[in-house]
Amino acid sequence: MRPITLKRIFFITITLSCLFVATLSWADVEAPVGLVVIDPGHGGIDKGAIGPRGIKEKDLTLKVAKALAVVLREKLGLTVILTREDDTFIPLGERTEVANSRGANLFISIHVNAAKSSRASGIETFFLSYDATDEEAVRLAAVENGFDAAHTGIEYAFNDDLKTTLLDLVETAAHHDSSTLAEAIHTSIIRSTGRGDRGVRQAPFAVLEGAVMPAVLVELGFISNSSDERWLLSKAGRKELAHSIALGVADFQGRRGRGVEKVGYRK
Ligand SMILES: [Zn+2]
Repeated sequence: MRPITLKRIFFITITLSCLFVATLSWADVEAPVGLVVIDPGHGGIDKGAIGPRGIKEKDLTLKVAKALAVVLREKLGLTVILTREDDTFIPLGERTEVANSRGANLFISIHVNAAKSSRASGIETFFLSYDATDEEAVRLAAVENGFDAAHTGIEYAFNDDLKTTLLDLVETAAHHDSSTLAEAIHTSIIRSTGRGDRGVRQAPFAVLEGAVMPAVLVELGFISNSSDERWLLSKAGRKELAHSIALGVADFQGRRGRGVEKVGYRK
């Protein structure tokens, strides 16, 4: 065994110091998620999708968002802001601005899907991407972006400028975390509710563009499907959804290195 020289002691000290510093900064990165902005899709003159019995997407999204806010506050001790508390029209660009200006840690946009076929059913969770998963995801993003573009005059054209912005975004930690958050929330919803699984997907949703924190959009079933609609209209269904999304948020924190138990999900 070689004798411990002064030089070796120096290197060991430097290495240990680096490890200690790295641990400290890692702990800083893993600061608890404190503020969540929930975005109930549509509102006011923008009714969103309308079901066969006249149920409006904007009303369902607000009900689910309010139920989720209660669970996130009571079970996880998080601060929650809704982009709208009532039936108000808020342009898409202002929704992420609420989250950015308040320094929110997470942004969750709540929507309900619709299809021509009454058989289409199930839940899908999206994060922002220029390269949509498939044509169906492109169509859905166009529908969700559509009213706002027509009303505000802001075109959500996916041109070269936006493509460059989004390609830059893909490199950011927030974007990487968006896919992790989408996966965590989606898996939790499907496991807890047993509803149809349409997967975690990517699409160019205007409401997610510009968010500087992990941001996802959840389509909580089809308003055009009587089973989905009935479930979303029921208090029990919304409670199930709120709890499963909140557990997904807790799981997201766990995946980033914080144990779920540390987050303090209180039963
Ligand atoms: Zn929608």
